[in-house]
Amino acid sequence: MPIVLDGTAVAAAIKQEVAEEVKKLAVLGIRPGLAVILVGDVPASQIYVRSKVQSCSDLGIYSELITPPTTVTTEEMLAFVACLNGREEIDGILIQLPLPASVDTKALLDAVDPAKDVDGFHPVNAGRLQAGRPALAPCTPAGVIELLKRSGIDLAGKHAVVVGRSDIVGKPAAMLLLHQNATVTICHSRTRNLGEITRQADILVAAIGVPGFISAEMVKPGATLIDVGMNRISDRSLFDRFFAGNEKREAVFAKRGSTLIGDIDPKAFELSSAYTPVPGGVGPLTIAMLMANTVRAAKMRRGL
Ligand code: NDP
Repeated sequence: MPIVLDGTAVAAAIKQEVAEEVKKLAVLGIRPGLAVILVGDVPASQIYVRSKVQSCSDLGIYSELITPPTTVTTEEMLAFVACLNGREEIDGILIQLPLPASVDTKALLDAVDPAKDVDGFHPVNAGRLQAGRPALAPCTPAGVIELLKRSGIDLAGKHAVVVGRSDIVGKPAAMLLLHQNATVTICHSRTRNLGEITRQADILVAAIGVPGFISAEMVKPGATLIDVGMNRISDRSLFDRFFAGNEKREAVFAKRGSTLIGDIDPKAFELSSAYTPVPGGVGPLTIAMLMANTVRAAKMRRGL
């Protein structure tokens, strides 16, 4: 039977450690602070931001929410960021993506002070990560590494195959796995014979954004499967393809008219030695690592 890698439990443990760090900093008169900029009223973004702000409050981190309307200009957003960069009590700045098309996302991410870049998206942090220097690493891939480490899965010498090369997940995941001494292959939409490569993976990380894309045939029996994908499906035939006969999922689908699935076909999980479920695998770690990064930024900025 494969081991289910419980992201919810690991995230709770990380948050507990962060809360303890926050208490230690309080003794020194320091309260880490996170500012979140949320533009417009995209429901998914609102949900994410709400839980980020709630986590701050749970752990004793100061948080501030800035909510410009969708008509906000790049210049106005740059002014918000400049102001937050200059404020001593703010240690982390998070710009919730996606931004409206009228706003220059890259210019904004580049404007965040790298010392406050708790999302790890600034090119300076990407460069530091690559060079193996202390850096604020992107939260989702950093969470994947924490989950693997805390689950006792040794990475040294293993062949890790990452499918997806985004700056947010795929590329930093590959770099972090390399720093753990895995032998890393990165695949993408132009990769030839993808299945041949994924079948060589001891550790397979899927960050693609296509429901159930990695089939059972693409997986080596006994591999560790890390499913970063978060896809909401509402199409009945797609649901039946992946979840036919799954009573728990049927109940969710009947109630909500949709369900979440990752980038790995759940049938592939049965062949694995360990896997992250969706939901409850990688997802919960992202916010936990954001909290950890905020405290880390607070300490690094003060030379602690
Ligand atoms: P992107 O769309 O930025 O990147 C997707 C990557 O997958 C690209 O590199 C793309 O290749 C590759 N890809 C797409 N189609 C194929 C294919 N047919 N074969 C091989 N590779 C392919 O997505 P993200 O990295 O931002 O996110 C990936 C997934 O992870 C999504 O489901 C997203 O929702 C989820 N996610 C989950 C988070 C969490 O907290 N759990 C956080 C962030 C993301 P190419 O570069 O060639 O186009």
